[in-house]
Amino acid sequence: MPELPEVETVRRTLNSLITGKTIRQVTATLPRILQRPDDPDAFAATLEGHTFLGVERRGKFLRFVMDGLVLVSHLRMEGRYGVYRDDEPVEPHTHVIFHFTDGTALRYKDVRQFGTMHLFAPGEEFRSAPLKKLGLEPLDESFTYEAFVKALGKRTTKIKPLLLNQEVIVGLGNIYVDEALHLARIHPERAADTLTGPEKKRLYEAIWSTLSSAVEAGGSSVKSYVNGQGEMGMFQHRLRAYGRTGEPCGECGTPIVKSIVGGRGTHVCPKCQKAPKGSGAAAKSASESRPTARTKANSVKLRLDGQDRASPLSKS
Ligand SMILES: [Zn+2]
Repeated sequence: MPELPEVETVRRTLNSLITGKTIRQVTATLPRILQRPDDPDAFAATLEGHTFLGVERRGKFLRFVMDGLVLVSHLRMEGRYGVYRDDEPVEPHTHVIFHFTDGTALRYKDVRQFGTMHLFAPGEEFRSAPLKKLGLEPLDESFTYEAFVKALGKRTTKIKPLLLNQEVIVGLGNIYVDEALHLARIHPERAADTLTGPEKKRLYEAIWSTLSSAVEAGGSSVKSYVNGQGEMGMFQHRLRAYGRTGEPCGECGTPIVKSIVGGRGTHVCPKCQKAPKGSGAAAKSASESRPTARTKANSVKLRLDGQDRASPLSKS
């Protein structure tokens, strides 16, 4: 599933590709994706004649801003957008096509069909599901240390599931939570209310730097993945902990250990990220910290549309 940096990269690319284009006609063939309105004909008719003013993002949702209309779109597992010439053959699993007046088209393809699209009057989207309850936006200037501490509050939840909760902070998925916690040297099973001031500060900074460096990595290869066929390409991103089970920690050389926290595959350095006393992880990481087979490469290819099944990133 794409996380914030991948969605941000998709946003930047689409913003450069479709801003200024006017929708002549919309073909919508899969009602399941269309949430608001949920009738394909009404959905298509609402969009026709509108011009894209820009593509923005809230958490992992894309916001297509038009004159007098906003489309909120979530890619979920495998949704992907591409810009094509309108006369190019349509690939299977293409469910929504925005035909533009200039002879090009924005196509939405989704093999798993978990993606969603909602239409709103401008501003209305923030007062309604699915954007209404979203938490802090970590790359926005509103993401201050004070706001972060306030969002953590006095919660006693384990820090990893708390960071995955989109009502607390948006855009962090399994990969970047593991990365940020490793960078901040905090064990994922620590209760949020036991974090010290310096730990909260490190975590705050780690979230920002982990996400922004991933966005830069994606942003720097924007040109290479816009290849006319609408392929969303891939970028190289060096991972610290995620998917590196058995490989040495870049800080101390101790093998990275995988466990399950809150139902999610979780990667920690048992030395840099001290397990809370009495936790299962404390006992487990001691017995499981011997090296296992190295995975093929430290640098993992990350595909923006989440379709790279061979990638270790598609596992959780
Ligand atoms: Zn370490």
